[in-house]
Amino acid sequence: MLPSTASLKQTGGRELKRIVFDEQTIARRVRELGQEITVAYPDGELLVLGLLKGSFIFLSDLVRRIERPLQVDFLVAASYGADTISSGNVRLLYDPETELRGKHILLVEDIVDTGKTLNRMVSLLRERAPRSLEICALLHKHLAQHLELEPAFVGFDAPRVFLVGYGLDHAENFRHLPYVASLT
Ligand code: 5GP
Ligand code: MG
Repeated sequence: MLPSTASLKQTGGRELKRIVFDEQTIARRVRELGQEITVAYPDGELLVLGLLKGSFIFLSDLVRRIERPLQVDFLVAASYGADTISSGNVRLLYDPETELRGKHILLVEDIVDTGKTLNRMVSLLRERAPRSLEICALLHKHLAQHLELEPAFVGFDAPRVFLVGYGLDHAENFRHLPYVASLT
C-alpha cells in the first residue's frame, strides 16, 4: 500500500502511482547480487565505482553484501535535467581519484535506460586500463539499441515507465524513498 503522498506531492510536484519494487523485494535481490559478485571475483583488487547520484542507496546496500575486500569510489555524471526525457548529453562532473589501472572495476548504476550514460562511462573507464570492467545495474529497461557492455549483474528488469525512489529522482525529489515507484 502506498504511504501518504501529501508531503511528497508538495515538494515533488508529482504523485506516486504505484510501488513497483518494495523494500523487502529489493533487500532480497541486493543480498543475492552481493553473493553473485562475491563468487564472481576470486582474486585481484576490486574497486566498486558508484555512478552518482542515482546509485548512492543501492551501492551502500550492495557493498555491505559483498564478502571480499574492496574499495569504493564514485563518478558523477549528469545526463538529465529536471525533465523525464533523456537529453543524451552526458557530462562528467567528478572523476574518481582512486587508481583504476590493474583493478577489477565494477561500475554500479541505478538504471539502464537509453544506455547513453553507460556507453560514455565504459569508453572513459576502458582508457584507464582496468584489469576488468563490469557493470552492476539495479534496474534495466532493455531499451538501449547499442550497449558497449551489457551489465553482468542486474537487479530487476524494469517496466518502461519513469521510476523514482531508492536513489532515483525526479527533479532531485523522491531519492530517499525505500522502494521503487512509478509516477502518475
Ligand atoms: P540513459 O543514459 O541510460 O538513458 O540514462 C541513464 C540515467 O538516466 C540513469 O542513471 C538515471 O539517472 C536516469 N534515468 C533513466 N531512466 C530513469 C527513470 O526511469 N527514472 C529516473 N529517476 N531516472 C532515470
Ligand atoms: Mg537522474
